[in-house]
Amino acid sequence: MVNTKNWKRFMIAIMCFTVASTVMVYPGVIKNADAVTIQEQKNQLKDVNEKKSKTKEQEKEVTQRIMKKAQELEAIEASIRDQSAKIQSTHQEIDKKEAELKKKTENLEVRLRTIYKKGSVGFVEVILNSNNVSELISNMSFMQKIYRSDKAAISSVKKDQAKLESIQHRLKEEEKALTAKKQESIEAKKSLEEERSVIEKKLKQYQAEAEQIGNEIASAQAAIEAKMQAEAAERARQNAAGQGNSSTSAAPNSGYTAGTGQLGWPVRGSISSTYGYRPMFGDFHTGIDIPVPTGTPVHAADSGTVLLTGWMPRGYGNYLTIYHGNGISTLYAHNSSLAVSQGQSVSKGQVVAYSGSTGWSTGPHCHFEVRVNGRHVNPMGYL
Ligand SMILES: [Zn+2]
Repeated sequence: MVNTKNWKRFMIAIMCFTVASTVMVYPGVIKNADAVTIQEQKNQLKDVNEKKSKTKEQEKEVTQRIMKKAQELEAIEASIRDQSAKIQSTHQEIDKKEAELKKKTENLEVRLRTIYKKGSVGFVEVILNSNNVSELISNMSFMQKIYRSDKAAISSVKKDQAKLESIQHRLKEEEKALTAKKQESIEAKKSLEEERSVIEKKLKQYQAEAEQIGNEIASAQAAIEAKMQAEAAERARQNAAGQGNSSTSAAPNSGYTAGTGQLGWPVRGSISSTYGYRPMFGDFHTGIDIPVPTGTPVHAADSGTVLLTGWMPRGYGNYLTIYHGNGISTLYAHNSSLAVSQGQSVSKGQVVAYSGSTGWSTGPHCHFEVRVNGRHVNPMGYL
């Protein structure tokens, strides 16, 4: 990243130097290196934008995963609430059984105490009140029956209580498992959120990088255009010096072809894609698209000088730009072939290229841009 940046800065510096030295020493020569540099920068921009859109996809995917985790977490929390309510009610039942058990135990104790207190008396009474041995046995077994029934009641309550306690134990184990699952879910969500923040950082970085390259391209273009203007002025000065004031063509702009300021259409047709943000592609369309069959003549929008001709397989394809003076230039892209060369003067309406579908294009059309001081503007304001 740093190396790329340094390299870019180096190239810009070289270019500025080239621009300056060309103006001073070799007026009239447009360095091909300028066009190459801009082309390379534009390729870089394309790369960064591709990375950006891929990162955006990642962000979308992670966000969806986070949303799913949040739903999962919500469901777990609902289960935990449910489980807590169950534990609570089981606890109340256990308490109830405990109270019952206490009461029953007390009953038995009271009875036992009575038997014990009246103990021997009671026993003697039983003996005395029994007329014979079989009656005595029957009376004694009656007392034993009462005792046994009390014991049975207690043991049944104890059994119920044990059952409830085992249910309680199971519920608590389940709750523990749910709590562990919740913790797991929270952690998974947290790590997804961390992942997203890394992606967002990357996205911001690409955004900044794309902006920087865009600015560098714009200033490189502006520098070339400034060079063109300086060259034109130099030629005009030389012409004026050579011809004196004998010729009517010795206007300040002679030596290069200046435009009228009013642009004409490069091709006839309807616009399929306007200037501006395109939600469908998620990009900014820097010109207008006019679909025409391959081989349709493309006309200069105004008189001027051919500023750049180039080949950009991942962008404009076969393209050229024309400088019209006053900081205004036009660009014609996706051509099948060019009819002019760099530095050539052209008149308004002259055929400068033949349309096609080269570069990033889905069908034959003329992509037309208008630039003011190197920055694209809406062509409709000039046509
Ligand atoms: Zn276009």
